[in-house]
Amino acid sequence: MNRFIEQEQHFCAHNYSPFHVVLTHGKGIYVWDNQGNRYLDMMSAYSAVSLGHAHPRLVKTLQDQAAQLGVVSRAFYTDQLGPFVAQTCQLTGMDMGLPMNTGAEAVETALKAARKWAYTVKGIPKNKAEIIVCEGNFHGRTIAIIGFSSEDQYRNGFGPFPKGFIRIPYGDTHALEQAINPNTAGFLVEPIQGEGGIIVPPKGYLARCAKICHDHNVLLLCDEVQTGLGRTGQILASQHDSVQPDGLMLGKALGGGLLPVSMFLARYDIMDVFQPGDHGSTFGGSPLAAAVGLEALNVLMDERLVQKAGDIGSYFLNRLVQIRSPLIKSIRGKGLLIGIELDTAQIPSKAFCEVLAQNGLLTKETHETVVRFAPPLIITKQQIDWSIEQIAETFRQFEHLSYKGAVGH
Ligand code: PLP
Repeated sequence: MNRFIEQEQHFCAHNYSPFHVVLTHGKGIYVWDNQGNRYLDMMSAYSAVSLGHAHPRLVKTLQDQAAQLGVVSRAFYTDQLGPFVAQTCQLTGMDMGLPMNTGAEAVETALKAARKWAYTVKGIPKNKAEIIVCEGNFHGRTIAIIGFSSEDQYRNGFGPFPKGFIRIPYGDTHALEQAINPNTAGFLVEPIQGEGGIIVPPKGYLARCAKICHDHNVLLLCDEVQTGLGRTGQILASQHDSVQPDGLMLGKALGGGLLPVSMFLARYDIMDVFQPGDHGSTFGGSPLAAAVGLEALNVLMDERLVQKAGDIGSYFLNRLVQIRSPLIKSIRGKGLLIGIELDTAQIPSKAFCEVLAQNGLLTKETHETVVRFAPPLIITKQQIDWSIEQIAETFRQFEHLSYKGAVGH
């Protein structure tokens, strides 16, 4: 076995089961392994690499800022944080931002903000605040977050969990209305469920949720860690429904594919609940993170990637639909966040991803049945055409095998 794989398996916790490829470098939409094979990156590190690998502007910003001033903690003002948070607010229509590092931290921040807002503004009795979440959610891996996951494996062996969360079916506005009571502080929702299997809710779902939340003085908290920053063809996926969230979580692509950079954004009156000492992070909002984050936003806008993701994403989806393999159950998505649900009785999704890699495309299944296609937003039409050929060829290979009864039984 390859010595890098052997060493990683020996020393590194087995909380992942990586695909057997050792990646050594990346450029744009491509990554290379240590055997010299090139792959088109159809996963973009779960959308973190939206701007492509080693974008020259981001690499330069990272190097320049690292040589200038890296990390000082939020105990001091810096010349980088204000411009970064101001630009993030301006692009997303929010009033204020609280910088963190990972997506899960941005979600934890949203939960703390909603609870404190519930007690200090809405007037919910002490320790009674409830937050509504959805079946099939994925918001990260902290104890609080997995505590309200509907996925048994995420929870098993990790209890006890914090109380105060109520789960309702995703895409069901009636269930939301039924679940709200005087102690409801917020509704935490992904505009499209990414890890849940690229689940696109019914048209107008988020707009109806926003109205229900507004009517009941409940905060609409949109987790756009995966769907935000252009991935679905709008700056925020919420904008497809013309919704302005009360609280917003961003992460992944905010770090330009180089650093963990996340943020919780909200209206003034919500963010105002945080007093000095209430919340924090040593690395959150560091000059290095802020410089790279700001440049990531600038690249996104300068290269018109939001619009491109919408246009190329529609083209990609239409071409995928034309593949028409009997092994496909459904194809869904928005912009460049697309999933193909396989008929897993005939074709195991993990094996499908392995053959796809042999054909030059790297991606990963989600929920064992769905193969995700979420390339960097810089992908061109020609590169999509090439990808379609590889995907169609992979289906042909499996159709051939399944007709012979060789797989899936
Ligand atoms: N929220 C959503 C919607 C996500 O998709 C993810 C990660 O996949 C997270 C939060 C957690 O982000 P992180 O892994 O950076 O903690």
